[in-house]
Amino acid sequence: MRPYDVIVKKRDGGRLSESEIRGFVHGYVEGLVPDYQMAAFLMAVYFTGMTDEETAALTMAMVSSGETVDLSSIPGKKVDKHSTGGVGDKTSLVLGPMVAAAGVPVPKMSGRGLGHTGGTLDKLESIPGFRTGLTMTEFLDQVRRIGIAIAGQTGKLVPADGKMYALRDVTGTVDSIPLIASSIMSKKIAGGADAIVLDVKTGTGAFMKRFEDAVRLAQAMVNIGTLTGRETVAVVTDMNQPLGRAVGNALEVREAVETLSGRGPDDLVELCLNLGSRMLALAGVATDASRATEILKEVLDSGKALEKLCSMVEAQGGDAAVIRDPSLLPKADAKIPVLASAPGFVRSLDALEVGRASMMLGAGRVTKESPIDPSVGVVLEKKVGDRVEKGEPLAWVYARDPGSASEIVRLVERAYSVGEQPVERPRLVRAVVTAKGVETVDDA
Ligand code: URA
Repeated sequence: MRPYDVIVKKRDGGRLSESEIRGFVHGYVEGLVPDYQMAAFLMAVYFTGMTDEETAALTMAMVSSGETVDLSSIPGKKVDKHSTGGVGDKTSLVLGPMVAAAGVPVPKMSGRGLGHTGGTLDKLESIPGFRTGLTMTEFLDQVRRIGIAIAGQTGKLVPADGKMYALRDVTGTVDSIPLIASSIMSKKIAGGADAIVLDVKTGTGAFMKRFEDAVRLAQAMVNIGTLTGRETVAVVTDMNQPLGRAVGNALEVREAVETLSGRGPDDLVELCLNLGSRMLALAGVATDASRATEILKEVLDSGKALEKLCSMVEAQGGDAAVIRDPSLLPKADAKIPVLASAPGFVRSLDALEVGRASMMLGAGRVTKESPIDPSVGVVLEKKVGDRVEKGEPLAWVYARDPGSASEIVRLVERAYSVGEQPVERPRLVRAVVTAKGVETVDDA
């Protein structure tokens, strides 16, 4: 079929076959389909949508547009985890070592942050010497040897996604569930995952602001997994306020180490146990969620998970002394309190505003090329539901110099809303989506 006919069929709400989708996507990567035809196709998908079968076909067409990672030399079922991105989300730094210490291999390819959300690679690079650019051989050897490696994308995976995403970005077609779902899942499948656990964030600091949209995205990704033979579970979690207390690269590494040492914030611990137990169950290491949780608590309590992080840092050229003593991590010059102007209870804490504040301090990137400062960020002293007295710190701003921080202090102050009435702490896990359906945890 000619590219023109594929576009018209989709524009008119028709169902495309696997070969039509594959031909169109591969043609685009090979330069036979020009940008303007792909742009028209993306807009047609934006307006008329795709069936689950079409979305799965689009995903696999994107996977086969480039190289794929062969993880067959690593024994056991490989379960990957992906988060759609949030503020203060250092889950991979905690979850990876926990799951690896429990005996499930973790060959994890991660990304960098852009905008108000941070990336795992940037966080890891705040550890002096840590190398995120491993060759494929180094990556696989390390997973076989110590059970875990977290690195940047190796090889030329999913070239179709890079090219299509750049076009979506400038044609108003990013916000389409089949396009987002296929983009995310193609990278996980090309990375060699046998099974996938997804953390789909919802709220002010998330890509999906509305709960219903997050559930729809979760369902679309679970359906892709099911149709392509990769068991997939998605957990929809709250991102109205940041996860944990630390936002900023070295600050988040410190919080990850504290969590692996048994002193983590409740929400981060809850999320790591929830996602981790699903990973263990999918890998076949535990028969049910409660046994999996016991195993994960044991690797935390015994220090095995923390030791696993040290081994990974050493294997990737990093200075593991900073893991044993996080006070050695890069430190900001100034630490300024954000004080409460009235007593009360924290009603809300806008994750997007905290993320923006942290980015303006230099912890995040405005463009792909911007350098980042590992030392700066925000540490939240109070979260939703907490009691606060007048003059007490709500948060701390870690800045390069106090002069540049006053505007940021005001931003963080505005991110908080404090009221007189007690407030219930929000639920972290809002829904769980599996091939069997959607289980909503509250009636949000
Ligand atoms: N993240 C991705 O990887 N792809 C999208 O399309 C949106 C978010």
